[in-house]
Amino acid sequence: MATTTLGEFDLIARYFTRAPRRAVLGVGDDCALLAPLPAGQQLAVSCDMLVEGRHFLSTVAPQRLGHKALAVNLSDLAACGAEPVAFTLALAMPRVDEDFLEGFSRGLFALADAHSVDLVGGDTTAGPLNICITVLGAVPGGQALLRSGARPGDELWVSHPPDGGLGDARLALEVFRGSVALTGDSLEAVRLRMECPTPRVALGVALRGVATSAIDLSDGLVGDLGHVLARSAVGATVNADALPRSAVLAAMPRAMQHECTLAGGDDYELLFSAPPGAESQVIAAAKRAELAVARIGRIDAAPGLRIVDGLGAPLLQRFVAFDHFRTAS
Ligand code: ADP
Ligand code: MG
Repeated sequence: MATTTLGEFDLIARYFTRAPRRAVLGVGDDCALLAPLPAGQQLAVSCDMLVEGRHFLSTVAPQRLGHKALAVNLSDLAACGAEPVAFTLALAMPRVDEDFLEGFSRGLFALADAHSVDLVGGDTTAGPLNICITVLGAVPGGQALLRSGARPGDELWVSHPPDGGLGDARLALEVFRGSVALTGDSLEAVRLRMECPTPRVALGVALRGVATSAIDLSDGLVGDLGHVLARSAVGATVNADALPRSAVLAAMPRAMQHECTLAGGDDYELLFSAPPGAESQVIAAAKRAELAVARIGRIDAAPGLRIVDGLGAPLLQRFVAFDHFRTAS
């Protein structure tokens, strides 16, 4: 670990200052300056904080942490169908560790570059490791995907990588907790899903005008779907056997598969509803985003969430969503 006497402003200059691509003025002054959005566009704003021990393990490589810190924020924009424009970074860290800063900023900027989004400012302070990013995005007025738009009769869909599914991040967490044993390529595959989530920005954009509601899966499907149901004042039936899963998860006991796909956090896939007649548009949107989508259930007029198996029989297990102020699932 390289500990140096690099000061606050030197470290900002060295690791977090880049010529902005789109912003008028980036890091270095009291404010950043952004040009107004084109007429008819709305500004989408979201903020997410990552706390060591809560949102990431101390074993994560700094480069992956830099990636994930931005990825979880871009995922919120994706869920709204917004395209990223700029972000700020508030960083607290116990000491100046240049190995950490070098890896962290590399992971952060690699993802920022992939989405042409500028880091335009932030704050840096000493303290327990804590990363807070605010993202700004743009969405055509009236076209943002919201949690509140699901209607009875809509079908429920979830995105996934062509060779993967939901629940891998949770499976990786169980490995680190010692309750599941995985090694080699299997471990690396699920670990990547936990530490390096891919925000589904292109899918969110492609779903504008197609999906009636959307949310990104950060706290587990049951809990996140619950937010959609509450905001839309509807219920839903979900077929647990239709939830996509990777080959690694599919080799686990069925109860573990259900726990990971239904209640596992950190998937960062999009869960969305669309009218039954929109199937071909949903599939076309997924194709544009180079993703797969699975139809996992439907929206009901009757309130509540019913989880059934492939034959329609109710699953009795209770799945608890992650809540920071309650006991973790
Ligand atoms: P102020 O005291 O005016 O709030 P600071 O001295 O904290 O500004 O920061 C100096 C400049 O560096 C500002 O432009 C600020 O936005 C930027 N900055 C500080 N920390 C970060 C960071 N972690 N990433 C990007 N920019 C940062
Ligand atoms: Mg400051």
